[in-house]
Amino acid sequence: MSTPPFPAPTTAELAVVSAQLGRPARGVVGIAARCVCGNPTVVATSPRLPDGTPFPTFYYLTHPAATAAMSTLEATQVMPELAALLDDDEVAAAYRAAHESYLGDRARFGEVPEIEGVSAGGMPTRVKCLHALAGHALAAGSGVNPIGDEALARSSWSPLICRCDDPGAALRESGEPAA
Ligand SMILES: [Zn+2]
Repeated sequence: MSTPPFPAPTTAELAVVSAQLGRPARGVVGIAARCVCGNPTVVATSPRLPDGTPFPTFYYLTHPAATAAMSTLEATQVMPELAALLDDDEVAAAYRAAHESYLGDRARFGEVPEIEGVSAGGMPTRVKCLHALAGHALAAGSGVNPIGDEALARSSWSPLICRCDDPGAALRESGEPAA
C-alpha cells in the first residue's frame, strides 16, 4: 500500500495495468497497491486525464480478480448492510475523515475545480461503489476507510493470494508495452 508521493510508474507496470484494464492506461501517476507478486492492484490516477477530462477516482482498482470480487459483493445485499454501518457515529466520522484524506492525496496532483470536494465511492455519507472504496482501502492501508476495509474483509479476493495472469510481470526489466 502507498499514498503520495509515488515513484513514477515504469513501462512494465503500465503494461500490466493496460492488460488488466483491456485498454491503454491513462493518466497513471503511481502504483498505489500491489498483489503479493508485485503486480499493481490499484493505480493512482491524475485528477485531470491527458485529454483534459476531470477524473475523481484517484485510487482506481485495476486487478480483474479484485474488480470481479467487488462486483459480486455489490450484487448481493451487502451494500445496504455497509451503508447501515454509517449509522454508528464513530464509523461515520472515520468515513468522513477518509473522504478528506482521499481529497488531500489527490490534491497533490493538481486542483481540478470541476470535481472539487468530490471524492469517490459515495464518500463521505453514502456507499455507492465498492471498487472505489476498496481501492482506497488497499492504497491507504487498514484503518483509514472503514467501509473499504469491510468490503475487502467480506470479499473472496485478497492481495495476499496471487491470481494474476502473469505473476510478477510488473517487476521485470524491459517489459514491452502490452497495448
Ligand atoms: Zn499477482
